[in-house]
Amino acid sequence: PEYTSKRVRSMFIEFFKQQHQHKFVPSSPVRPRGDPTLLFVNAGMNQFKPIFLGAVDPRSEMAGYQRVVNSQKCVRAGGKHNDLEDVGRDVYHHTFFEMLGNWSFGDYFKEDACSMAWQLLTEVYGISPDRLYISYYGGDTVLGLEPDLETREIWLSLGVQSDRILPFGMRDNFWEMGETGPCGPCTEIHYDHVGGRNAASLVNADSPDVVEIWNLVFMQYSREADGSLRPLPQLSVDTGMGLERLVTVLQKRRSNYDTDLFTPLLSAIHQRSRCPEYRGRSGLADEGKVDMAYRVLADHIRTLSICIADGVYPGMSGAELVLRRILRRAVRFSSEVLQAPPGTLASLVPTVAQILGEAYPELHRETDRIMDIVNENEEQFLSSLRQGRRVIDRTLQKMGGTHVFPGSVAWSLHRNLGFPLDLIGLMLEERGVAMDTETLEKLAAEDEKLRAQDQVSDSDSKVELDLHTLLQLQEALVPHTDDSPKYHYSL
Ligand code: ATP
Ligand code: MG
Ligand code: MG
Ligand code: MG
Repeated sequence: PEYTSKRVRSMFIEFFKQQHQHKFVPSSPVRPRGDPTLLFVNAGMNQFKPIFLGAVDPRSEMAGYQRVVNSQKCVRAGGKHNDLEDVGRDVYHHTFFEMLGNWSFGDYFKEDACSMAWQLLTEVYGISPDRLYISYYGGDTVLGLEPDLETREIWLSLGVQSDRILPFGMRDNFWEMGETGPCGPCTEIHYDHVGGRNAASLVNADSPDVVEIWNLVFMQYSREADGSLRPLPQLSVDTGMGLERLVTVLQKRRSNYDTDLFTPLLSAIHQRSRCPEYRGRSGLADEGKVDMAYRVLADHIRTLSICIADGVYPGMSGAELVLRRILRRAVRFSSEVLQAPPGTLASLVPTVAQILGEAYPELHRETDRIMDIVNENEEQFLSSLRQGRRVIDRTLQKMGGTHVFPGSVAWSLHRNLGFPLDLIGLMLEERGVAMDTETLEKLAAEDEKLRAQDQVSDSDSKVELDLHTLLQLQEALVPHTDDSPKYHYSL
């Protein structure tokens, strides 16, 4: 395609550098540097938070920043911005994505920000204005915040039709980094993938037909720990555009997975799986569960590669725990849905490096290490899955006629073997056995209380098991050879 993802990324950066005097600042690692309010870097502005707050050391390089452009590695799989549940189900939310952004730190404000964005999209990238919709902040009576009519006027003056400029409330048009931190009203640009009708009602409606592509935030406040809004020392602009969504528009596709950022991954997955090829492309039927598995794998291996290259390894607490869940989710889809052999996930890492390595060279340097860590964690998880299955079957055998599975056994499977609770539920369902959810929930609540009291991380806490459960577990863990039945679950 004419607009390769590499070209789209560099056109963005060059536009702000050359035509509007911005300075390029490289992406920060996805592990936040010294910010305990964040699990992962979730937006391009994170590394500039001290500038917005007026807390930057005047001797640091940052003190001189006025106009900045970059493409930032972002992960949204926890905290305030958590898209994990959407990933694979839709075709435009990823756990890892790249955010293209331009910033003004006390330099230009609303008018220039809107006109630069409009110029880039319609003139440089050549997107037709009759596919674009604008949202702006409609105010909030409870907070006493006025609607941002100034921004509406700016868009009108740029030639946008009034019925394409729509007000929205706090959820969509007031951007906040986290529970605390810089925030402000925003105006967003949405793209209509269909065209030829009035699509205003589909803006911010979770429709794959009209997708948000660019957010321009007018940073004016800091959200304080007590919930109040403190005005910032200067007015700033913070914008973020998802590279994957922009590339989809420019390559005239309907799904991010049908662009050159993902198609090599889908082909590599197909070579390893025992399933038909990915059929999500426009014109072909979506194969449901199988297609979703392709998308989950392609998404999750990008996230795993980027995170591990940046020093976040799958582990037992915080961001590490989130990454472990992502890995295990990928392994389940890979082995259970696509019936791909162990090692499939790791085998995709060189493809990720090939797609993204030019922009993020650490992917080339760290390829071997990433593959080793992914393989190790996959093996561990597959082995606990096998153990877990044995525990369940042995327990059921011993229970004889009853149809309620002990909550204490389920809980120890989860707590001690890291077995996902939902998976236990599904495996029991297949065997026609109910779970003693009351006990399970009680144990989970007790554990949570314990951890909150002691403030220990997952890795430090041990659940007290009653003797009966321990014996059951030990006995059940003795290896035996008969093949445990295959299980299926709805997605
Ligand atoms: P959405 O409403 O689609 O969830 P958002 O409003 O949460 O997006 P912002 O926080 O405004 O997103 O981030 C700026 C831009 O980053 C979005 O306009 C979009 O292009 C992109 N983006 C946000 N989340 C994701 C994601 N999970 N995957 C890919 N791109 C994303
Ligand atoms: Mg979102
Ligand atoms: Mg949004
Ligand atoms: Mg947004």
